[in-house]
Amino acid sequence: MAEQFDVVVIGAGPAGYHAAIRAAQLGLKTACIDAALGKDGKPALGGTCLRVGCIPSKALLDSSRQFWNMGHLFGDHGISFDKPKIDVPTMIGRKDKIVKQFTGGIAQLFKANKVTPFYGFGQLQPGNVVKVKQHDGSEVELKGTNVIIAAGSDSIELPFAKFGEHIVDNVGALDFDKVPKRLGVIGAGVIGLELGSVWNRLGAEVTVLEGLPNFLAAADAEVGKVAAREFKKQGLDIRLGCKVSNTEVKKDGVHVFYTDDKGEQEIVVDKLLVAVGRRAATKGLLAEGTGVKLNERGMIEVDAHCHTGVDGVWAVGDCVRGPMLAHKGFEEGIAVAELIAGLPGHVNLDTIPWVIYTEPEIAWVGKTEEQLKAEGIPYKAGSFPFAAVGRAVAMAEPAGFVKVLAHAETDTVLGMHLVGANVSELVHEGVLTMEFKGSADDLARICHAHPSLSEAVHDAAMAVHKRSIHKAN
Ligand SMILES: Cc1cc2nc3c(=O)[nH]c(=O)nc-3n(C[C@H](O)[C@H](O)[C@H](O)COP(=O)(O)OP(=O)(O)OC[C@H]3O[C@@H](n4cnc5c(N)ncnc54)[C@H](O)[C@@H]3O)c2cc1C
Repeated sequence: MAEQFDVVVIGAGPAGYHAAIRAAQLGLKTACIDAALGKDGKPALGGTCLRVGCIPSKALLDSSRQFWNMGHLFGDHGISFDKPKIDVPTMIGRKDKIVKQFTGGIAQLFKANKVTPFYGFGQLQPGNVVKVKQHDGSEVELKGTNVIIAAGSDSIELPFAKFGEHIVDNVGALDFDKVPKRLGVIGAGVIGLELGSVWNRLGAEVTVLEGLPNFLAAADAEVGKVAAREFKKQGLDIRLGCKVSNTEVKKDGVHVFYTDDKGEQEIVVDKLLVAVGRRAATKGLLAEGTGVKLNERGMIEVDAHCHTGVDGVWAVGDCVRGPMLAHKGFEEGIAVAELIAGLPGHVNLDTIPWVIYTEPEIAWVGKTEEQLKAEGIPYKAGSFPFAAVGRAVAMAEPAGFVKVLAHAETDTVLGMHLVGANVSELVHEGVLTMEFKGSADDLARICHAHPSLSEAVHDAAMAVHKRSIHKAN
């Protein structure tokens, strides 16, 4: 006999735990199932994000940034010391401690909000029943008036580059026991650039092979250009238009074979990170006859409100369309819980911010100039460099700029593109303005503290109307 819940959530990653906690807050009897185990072999809630994604990568980015700054920036401030050394096991231990703190935090939040956790693999059966194979081998059945699938995503493995000791995905690259002398990265996307930056800053020779001819094709072209220049200065060797065809693990390292416009090429590296994307984790998730449909990429098909079309079955986060970002999953999880409780719930996919936590950081929201041109939308652009922002120069972070794109007739902000220090925070000015349907003029008339990095946003908005004070218009 299945145990009855108002809401059963499959997956306790960002999308699933937000859905579960919000549903419980709204008075719904809620269960949340998760199959993941931590490094210690014990159940660990929080999904990819907390275990092997957002948080551990940011912990290592921060450690490696401190190390890099000691070697490259401190001298300018008149600070000297013996050559910095990195103790990788201590750095990894710090990261693991942060992961444990946060995954344990989700378990406490479940307890505080009366969400019942189940630890094991859940499979949806017809009739909104979820069969859970628990870690101790036992099975339970849960029936949900509503079931929210939040199964997330897994790394894509290339058939000619199987994961192992030398060829790794994000999980392996977050856990190297020493700095690899030579690190190869396939894919110059968010994960490849962030983890490539970590090990590059710590002294690895990093070669990034990207299949596309353009760097950061999803970002505004000007942002990509500035970022590429800065990464090159840091010693990241990013090669574009490289089609990797094979790898071979030999005694002297991993041989990576690829072709570019000059013909066949080969590099040899000690470790190879494959970061070519992620796919929805839907393997084994759906029993025969549930009626839930997958698209051609294996993602669960949903409508604009994350409903699968099967009565009472919803899906959120990385396993459905839209950007594979934790905060997109947060919002979908909350929206679905509220819809189930009879409240309005909605996620605007057009105002999801994107961030790459490299040095400099890269962030954007809304449309790029290239998209506006392709769609024939008339626009005006205003940009402002951090090199002219007092705070950025005082922080020795003059690289990059902010660009505001506004509709040529209505002045409504259509996009904001940033590259520079702390732009992961500044991008939210663009998100807020766009959510409130604000204009470049609105943003230009809002007082910004001086000296602050946010002055670049202010001046860029003013530059849309050629009235920037701190640069020639
Ligand atoms: C290295 C790296 C860095 C990243 N950095 C960022 C970042 O800085 N910012 C950002 O926004 N995003 C980042 N991401 C992406 C982010 O981690 C994902 O978008 C986010 O975790 C997706 O959340 P989710 O809840 O949809 O799925 P997941 O986090 O993947 O969680 C799904 C959970 O469901 C469980 N599960 C799956 N199937 C079942 C089943 N059948 N039964 C039981 N449990 C199941 C899984 O074990 C997992 O715990 C990063 C990803 C990686 C890999």
